[in-house]
Amino acid sequence: MEKQDQLLMKKQNKNLVLDIIKHKSPISRMEIAKLTGMSPTSITRMVNELHAQGFVRETELVTSGVGRKAALLDVCSDVLYTVGVEIDTFVIKIGIVDYVGEIVAWQSIQRNVAEDYEETLQKVSQVIGRLIAEQQIPDGKVIGIGVGIPGSIDYMNGLVKVSDQLKWNNVHLAEDLQQLTGLAVIIDNELKMKIVAESFTGMAKDSQNAVLVGIGSGIGAAIMLNGDIYRGDSNNAGEIGHTVIDPTGNVCNCGKIGCLATYISERAILADSRKVKNVNSIGDVFAAYRSKESWAINIMDRTTTYIALALSNILCLYNPEVLILSGDTIESLPELKETIEQKCDLYIWEPLKDQLKIVYSQLSNHGVVLGAAIQVQNSLLDLE
Ligand SMILES: [Zn+2]
Repeated sequence: MEKQDQLLMKKQNKNLVLDIIKHKSPISRMEIAKLTGMSPTSITRMVNELHAQGFVRETELVTSGVGRKAALLDVCSDVLYTVGVEIDTFVIKIGIVDYVGEIVAWQSIQRNVAEDYEETLQKVSQVIGRLIAEQQIPDGKVIGIGVGIPGSIDYMNGLVKVSDQLKWNNVHLAEDLQQLTGLAVIIDNELKMKIVAESFTGMAKDSQNAVLVGIGSGIGAAIMLNGDIYRGDSNNAGEIGHTVIDPTGNVCNCGKIGCLATYISERAILADSRKVKNVNSIGDVFAAYRSKESWAINIMDRTTTYIALALSNILCLYNPEVLILSGDTIESLPELKETIEQKCDLYIWEPLKDQLKIVYSQLSNHGVVLGAAIQVQNSLLDLE
């Protein structure tokens, strides 16, 4: 074997051992040897290295079969930290996340729709600096920042190509935020960040094939196939808001006619509601729905029909085991769940129903931040 290959294999083995300790702790060296098929000597050597690097500690002693005490291993949650950021139209959320995925500090701030790109970045950078200082995290322990943004994102180059919600076009977000903070930055579409959190700790934890659908200011999906995010050629796979469902329908802000988003997004619901009643916000529409005003029932009934149609189409394309529904519309109006499920039952093709679980995200407003922070670990943590 070439020297390079040996080094790579050594690194992969060490990563595997650390991963096992992280997810199965407390665990003994013997158990790790059994799980990996590696020799106890190799495991001991790798655990010693990981211990010296601060990743692993011994927790407790248990009596093993032959009466000897065996030490159990756990990871050190404070060995490193990552920052997760979600930037949306009206709100910016920022969290500091430790090595085991716990949010140790959190701040959510309002975003003025009119504020420009530089202003938003300044705010984000200031809050990150303050949170790190407040937590008294030593220099060098924060390894990077992950940002989730609505829109079409070139995640490889850290470029926001288009974000309708933020009104940003072709901005080099990763590079600009890196300059302000001095920390490495990765960015991605918000739902692609969120499905990382669902897979790490949420509803897709035990699943390799999952689809997460977000319904709110727009509608979009993130797709996980065989444990990996499915991105398509330009990272836009899952942007179902612009699938055309009625070529004679409403005009979309993308310039096409009859896009799905024009029947489901908050903006679309509001625009239609204002044809009937002078409502101020989407909250007014939901309140009218609750008090059984017929126009609101009609509009939301059409919305749930289109949601169910969209879901049934996604299922035909990707055949996931878990379909996770999330987003402001469903969180603000949980009464819709039952209606959506009933309509799904009508539209979903029978062979797809057997194994399918339709569930609701439990990560609520932390999902994107947590996923972004975990994705930083996944992409930037490089074990020597
Ligand atoms: Zn469109």
